[in-house]
Amino acid sequence: MEYDVIVVGGGHAGIEASLVSARMGKKTLLITMLVEQIGAASCNPAIGGLAKGHLVRELDAIGGEMGLCTDSAGIQFRVLNASKCAAVQGSRAQIDMDRYREYMREVCHNTANLEIYQDEVTSLLTSDENELEVCGVKTKLGEEFKSKKVILTTGTFMKGLIHIGSSTYDAGRAWELPSTTLSTQLKEFGLNVGRLKTGTPARIDAKSIDFSKMEEHGGDEKPTPFSFRTDKKTFNPKQHPCYITYTNLGTHGKISSNFHRAPMFTGQIEGRGPRYCPSIEDKVSRFSERDRHQLFLEPQTAMCTEYYINGLSTSLPIDVQKDMIHSIN
Ligand SMILES: Cc1cc2nc3c(=O)[nH]c(=O)nc-3n(C[C@H](O)[C@H](O)[C@H](O)COP(=O)(O)OP(=O)(O)OC[C@H]3O[C@@H](n4cnc5c(N)ncnc54)[C@H](O)[C@@H]3O)c2cc1C
Repeated sequence: MEYDVIVVGGGHAGIEASLVSARMGKKTLLITMLVEQIGAASCNPAIGGLAKGHLVRELDAIGGEMGLCTDSAGIQFRVLNASKCAAVQGSRAQIDMDRYREYMREVCHNTANLEIYQDEVTSLLTSDENELEVCGVKTKLGEEFKSKKVILTTGTFMKGLIHIGSSTYDAGRAWELPSTTLSTQLKEFGLNVGRLKTGTPARIDAKSIDFSKMEEHGGDEKPTPFSFRTDKKTFNPKQHPCYITYTNLGTHGKISSNFHRAPMFTGQIEGRGPRYCPSIEDKVSRFSERDRHQLFLEPQTAMCTEYYINGLSTSLPIDVQKDMIHSIN
């Protein structure tokens, strides 16, 4: 089968790449590992934020889907730094992760010129005349697809490795298979490859949380949609609150007495961390003078009871994670 464009990976980037290509009339194939996970949020159930909100709106201005999807799946909308000047403001929305995925999958399935195939791309095909000219892809099931252009949007999946204390396992993100061979081939082509690390907190059940001890953090009274195509006048989504709480010196003690078990510090994690989202062990170590750190409890969906603890991203072992969560009161 021959396509104009093949996109590898149905995450946030791959969706937009596939849609823009198909909408321009190009015969496009999106190959992704799990069709159900198209548009899955790997970490916190939110879109935008400072700087990132600008990107979503820029994407929207050129016809992207992310803003529209957020307006449809959003469960809390806020303009951050609203009291400051426009240059430092940022739009942010909590999303219902399930609804977000369903919306994106539905749009991808119903876009003309776009086909979706579920498999892992294991290698790029190159033409005989010039071995660096990519002309298609080969998949784990042995299928070959030809294309003039291949776009890789593989996110955190290439040789992905998860660390929880001293336990490690191969995964693209929690419990999903990693992409194992593509990066080896890219290296063989002479491209530079490197490792980055990111982190995530434990998710907890609302039934185990005493919300009465926390500060409620709601959305804007007059929510602003992300997309320029959403009608501002009628935009009135049901908004769900987040909740604010804090770590304390007891929490910090449990963390610092286990620094020697944190792969962030023992050298077990080789990749460099991004500047966003430092781990709690990093914050406790770097700002030892602070007696508390703010945490936001964010609902992952409108219907279920799972909460994301924004601010408690960690590489510490499970027993320490449990201890530190139980120390927050
Ligand atoms: C634990 C964790 C925490 C994170 N925290 C943040 C954060 O706080 N802020 C932030 O901005 N970002 C964070 N990220 C990064 C997050 O992954 C990206 O922001 C975002 O998901 C990137 O979108 P993407 O489309 O590039 O990749 P992804 O959303 O990762 O999607 C990649 C897609 O490609 C598919 N795929 C990969 N390899 C292949 C292959 N060989 N063949 C077929 N399909 C393939 C996967 O199945 C997946 O569907 C975090 C990631 C993780 C795992």
